Amino acid sequence: MSSSTPISVRVRFAPSPTGFLHVGGIRSALFNWLWARHNGGISILRIEDTDRARYVEGALDQICDSLEALGIAPDEGPREGGEYGPYVQSERLDLYHQHAKPLLESGALYRCWCSPERLTKLREEAQATGVAFKYDRHCLIAANQRSETEPHVLRFRIPDAPESIGWDDAVRGRLDFKLTDLDDFVAIKADGFPTYHFANVVDDHLMAISHVLRADEWLPSTPKHLLLWQAFDWQPPVYAHLPAVLGPTGNKKLSKRDGAQSVQEYLDEGYLPEALRSFLASLGWNDGTTQEVYATDELVERFTLERIQRSPAKFDKDRLTWMNGFLIRQMPLDKLLERSRGFWPASASDSSMTYRRHVLRLVQDRLKFLSELSELTEFFFTEPDYRSGILETEADSDRYRHPTFAVCLRAARQAVENSDFSEASLEAALRPLAEELGTKTGVLFSAIRIAITGQKSAPGLFETLAVLGRETSLRRLDNAIKQL
Ligand code: GLU
Repeated sequence: MSSSTPISVRVRFAPSPTGFLHVGGIRSALFNWLWARHNGGISILRIEDTDRARYVEGALDQICDSLEALGIAPDEGPREGGEYGPYVQSERLDLYHQHAKPLLESGALYRCWCSPERLTKLREEAQATGVAFKYDRHCLIAANQRSETEPHVLRFRIPDAPESIGWDDAVRGRLDFKLTDLDDFVAIKADGFPTYHFANVVDDHLMAISHVLRADEWLPSTPKHLLLWQAFDWQPPVYAHLPAVLGPTGNKKLSKRDGAQSVQEYLDEGYLPEALRSFLASLGWNDGTTQEVYATDELVERFTLERIQRSPAKFDKDRLTWMNGFLIRQMPLDKLLERSRGFWPASASDSSMTYRRHVLRLVQDRLKFLSELSELTEFFFTEPDYRSGILETEADSDRYRHPTFAVCLRAARQAVENSDFSEASLEAALRPLAEELGTKTGVLFSAIRIAITGQKSAPGLFETLAVLGRETSLRRLDNAIKQL
């Protein structure tokens, strides 16, 4: 390919279905997706399920669902299909065997019959002398070889020359590894499954992958991969190793407490896909400006590999929550109404969309994530629960010596009785009342708020009364007065 030929970008996200996809993993998916979109390329989902012992039932579906829910579904993958499939490695075993053959013939791979017991012993001996374990090539000696029909693995023979192997990482720059540090790793296991290394390289080639964007925990594997590319005489892709995602203090692994939860859990809590995309993009990437929140097309337009940082990223869940609240506040009300489906309290089920829309308008500014909706709006749909003793406790407080809590409520009831319950008329009726009663508006309004909502903090008083309407508001005031 001449240097002027634009390469077509094909990237893959290659998770192993060993558990639920959590936020660290999906950051790799997002970066791949952004790089594909930025270049008008193709993003692929490949499931690397060759480690049968760690396979978790249901993980594949959960990975596909998470990518779809986040709006970054691949162009090719197990659900989408595509010309380069199948996209699940356990369905590609023939391909790995076909590709092992020529390497076995050329001597790049060799058979090894060593028992797990022998290997364990070698490992223990290495450990006792403090050296890194390296297979001793016992099975390269003709006298130790056995029949091909006996169970065995295929190992990759680390070449004796050159001394080192390296690459220009698109994020980390030039990296070189000494070959003497590498072990003759297994390429095909005794159960016939390839190892991660072998399948990964064969598939990256067969799927015409141009760029590998993956977490830097895979850095130590890359020299092995490059040796495989060399043995096959294939052109390797560009490697870009993404910085680790650490906890908010930047010195510890991201823990459950810091927000290391699955993508689905975030969505269930009512984090918006667009907030997650913007936040996850900032974990190890920035566009060099101080902009905090990005629309997805802005990310697509600005995402480049040069701006991926080398140092670990800090996962600050508070920042995500802030971003989410910011995007909720910006959202047109009707869109928010649509998005809040499934987050209303059960008691809202009989209420009309028009009523819910009024309620939503009052809480939009306070919502940080959608699952808060239920608690914030419960009182709009059910009678307030005074059982906590909130009325009595307030009535006892010094603020209600004179006038008393009950006097405030009675006066308020009377004042609004003839109001048309528009916000303006409620305000006109209630504002002057505090002075008439000889108390502060804050004190009076607080009594009314507690009586009609059962809680101390709620949206603006006039708006709340207007949305609840005349009948409900008067009934609640009466009930509170009765209870006192
Ligand atoms: N299967 C590896 C994982 O679980 C993929 C690493 C890579 O992208 O090469 O992350």
